[in-house]
Amino acid sequence: MNIADNLNLLKRELEDTQCRLIAVSKTKPEEMILEAYDSGHKIFGENKVQDLAAKAVNLPQDIEWHMIGHLQRNKVKYIAPFVGMIHSVDSLRLLAEINKQAAKNKRVIDCLLQVHIAEEETKFGLTTDKLTELLNSSELKDLRDIRIAGLMGMATYTDDSSQIRKEFRMLRDLFDQVQSENRAQNIDMRELSMGMTSDYKIAIEEGSTLIRIGTAIFGARNYT
Ligand SMILES: *Cc1c(COP(=O)(O)O)cnc(C)c1O
Repeated sequence: MNIADNLNLLKRELEDTQCRLIAVSKTKPEEMILEAYDSGHKIFGENKVQDLAAKAVNLPQDIEWHMIGHLQRNKVKYIAPFVGMIHSVDSLRLLAEINKQAAKNKRVIDCLLQVHIAEEETKFGLTTDKLTELLNSSELKDLRDIRIAGLMGMATYTDDSSQIRKEFRMLRDLFDQVQSENRAQNIDMRELSMGMTSDYKIAIEEGSTLIRIGTAIFGARNYT
C-alpha cells in the first residue's frame, strides 16, 4: 500500500458523509507529504509549531495547514501568517494572542476549542464548565480577528468502543448545545474535530466533520 492508496480508501469511507480528512503528517518528511499532495490531497495537520512553519515554507502554497497540537502563546506569531485552522485552543489568553497575531496579519483565524472528553488525565483541553465560562465571557466578544469554528476532542485510548462512543457523543452534544445557543458574532459552530486512526469510524458515526489521520495514511511513527 502506498500513501495515495491509503488516502483513496479513507476518502471512499467519507463519500456519503459531511466529514473531511486531515492528513496528519507530523514527524513525516516532506517527500511523503508531497506524495499525498500529488495524489490530490490538500489538507495537512502538524502538532509542533516549528515543524509546521518549516514545512509550510518548503511545500506548495495552496496546502491548508491545521495546527492540531498544544500551542504556546509565544509561538502563535510563527504560524499566524498562514495557518488554516487551530484545533487546540484551550484558554482565553491563548485566544487573545491568536486574535492579536491575526490582526497583525490582517486575517481572521479559525479556531476550535479543545475539550477534555477522555477519562485519562491529561493537561490539555477545557472542562465543560471552563468551556461554558469561556464562551460566555465578555472578553470573547471583543476578539474580532478570530472565529470559534467548532470543537475538538480526543477520546480515551482504549479498545472499549462503547467508551469511545460515549465520549464522542458527549462532545457532539456539547457542540449541538453551543450551536443552538446563538452567541457572539465570532462564534460560528460548524466543525467537530474528532477521530484518529484507531477510532475514526466511531467518530464519523457520531457526527465528526474533521477526522485527523496520521498512521493510516503515512504508516506508524518512530517517535511523536
Ligand atoms: C498524532 C495526532 C493525530 C493522528 O494520530 P494517528 O493515530 O496517527 O491517526 C490526531 N490528532 C492529534 C491531536 C494528534 O496529535
